[in-house]
Amino acid sequence: MAKNIGLFWLKDDFRFCKNFALIEATRKHDQVVVFYLYKKKKFEDQQSQKWWIGKSLEEFKKKLIKFNINLEIIEITSYKSFFDKLFIKKNFSIYWNKTYEPNYLAFDSYLSKNFKDNSVEFKIFKGNVLNEVDEVKKGDGTPFKVFTPYWRNAEKYYLEKIPSMEKKISKCYKKASFFDKTLSEKEILPKKNWFKKFEKYWNPGEESAFKELKNFINDRIENYSEARNFPNLIGTSRLSPYIKHGHIHVETIWEECSKVKKKGVNKFLTEIGWREFNHTLINFFPHMLKGNYSKKFDKFPWEKNHKFLNAWKKGLTGYPIVDAGMRELYQTGWMHNRVRMIVGSFLVKHLLINWIEGEKYFKNCLLDYSEANNVSGWQWVAGSGADAAPYFRIFNPILQGEKFDKEGEYVKKWVSELKNVPKKFIHKPWELNENSILKLGEDYPFPIVVHEKARLKALKAFKKI
Ligand SMILES: Cc1cc2nc3c(=O)[nH]c(=O)nc-3n(C[C@H](O)[C@H](O)[C@H](O)COP(=O)(O)OP(=O)(O)OC[C@H]3O[C@@H](n4cnc5c(N)ncnc54)[C@H](O)[C@@H]3O)c2cc1C
Repeated sequence: MAKNIGLFWLKDDFRFCKNFALIEATRKHDQVVVFYLYKKKKFEDQQSQKWWIGKSLEEFKKKLIKFNINLEIIEITSYKSFFDKLFIKKNFSIYWNKTYEPNYLAFDSYLSKNFKDNSVEFKIFKGNVLNEVDEVKKGDGTPFKVFTPYWRNAEKYYLEKIPSMEKKISKCYKKASFFDKTLSEKEILPKKNWFKKFEKYWNPGEESAFKELKNFINDRIENYSEARNFPNLIGTSRLSPYIKHGHIHVETIWEECSKVKKKGVNKFLTEIGWREFNHTLINFFPHMLKGNYSKKFDKFPWEKNHKFLNAWKKGLTGYPIVDAGMRELYQTGWMHNRVRMIVGSFLVKHLLINWIEGEKYFKNCLLDYSEANNVSGWQWVAGSGADAAPYFRIFNPILQGEKFDKEGEYVKKWVSELKNVPKKFIHKPWELNENSILKLGEDYPFPIVVHEKARLKALKAFKKI
């Protein structure tokens, strides 16, 4: 047992199970301190994340206390200046898991060099992925740009590897503290009322994540392939915020799914595959984090229209399925995947607003916000991504609504003004000539654009590139 303190740098890994770095620290040291670096500025444009992280810290602290391990939260202005001071401290070893964003991976190299130069023992572990982001490549050594062949190879590669060993934290430690001036997790939790609503829908924590996974496998995975498209059903796993913040490792998901022989398992694991694919893409093509993956979109004639953008954000476009999605997002910090595609397509193709604006708004609201998935999701919708939907395929919000929310249940849940509208008109309330049921323009807006006109305009704009 090492005599010095073992530090575990906690990022998006709020779990004990398959938390390789934390487990290593607890196996090697009698005294362990877990620390979280809180950079206020980082959350200015991703506010709902603060709620999830504040809650997660609260829960993780309680779990650690049972083992006599302190969780210390330190407010920083820059990661570099924090670590530059840490390098020269003595009497500790440090462990962390990788985060698969190019900035973090580059910073890992900086940290490795400096810890080594200062003779500090450190070790970096695999983070929350099945395969490391640079492990799966084409035969000629170049990265895959298309999902299907990527996933065929990635799945095979993962299955051929020896699965990571599961080890557990099992003993109590000698309590230790390491850093001065620590924060309470309560100081991270945002004060705004907006976030209070989230408590109705989510319970951040490792046990909740596992329970959600088990419920999903027991009750819903069988019909996942079909049910996943219908936003009025709870047809998907709703695990995304837990996966994003590492309450559950994707290897655990894989293992639990592999224990059952049910119809939807492959389709579900393929979606986990999209997440893996997106993480490889942003690391091989980091330019896509700042703009279009496909450079031809740099010339796209986007329009700046604050009125339209605000109507979209507020769920007041006059297209019920779009408005329901945007309101679900604001109320719950999450939106169904099918509806993410519909609202995204509407912003980019009906309103001709640059996908970057949508990406920014999602970043601020989504509890599952992930740089890789959000940027790739938006570029998929816009047509500018690696393996994207073609720009000329324009979702018709009326038909999408009629197909995937036939009874209008989803719309009525989130757009209460429409609760008395008969199902025939629920996705086109402007055709309802019944002032007593709905006063269009007063109770609910007229459509801000006319679908067919907007479609033709988008196609014309696309021809320019
Ligand atoms: C415009 C747009 C933006 C998006 N932004 C994000 C984001 O910031 N964070 C995020 O996690 N997902 C994002 N997605 C992908 C997807 O919508 C969500 O992962 C999914 O809706 C989460 O719900 P679930 O956990 O019930 O998914 P399930 O269907 O149960 O899937 C299980 C898991 O697989 C992964 N997954 C599922 N679909 C996708 C996908 N299309 N791409 C990548 N991974 C996927 C997620 O980790 C998800 O939790 C975005 C999609 C679009 C179209």
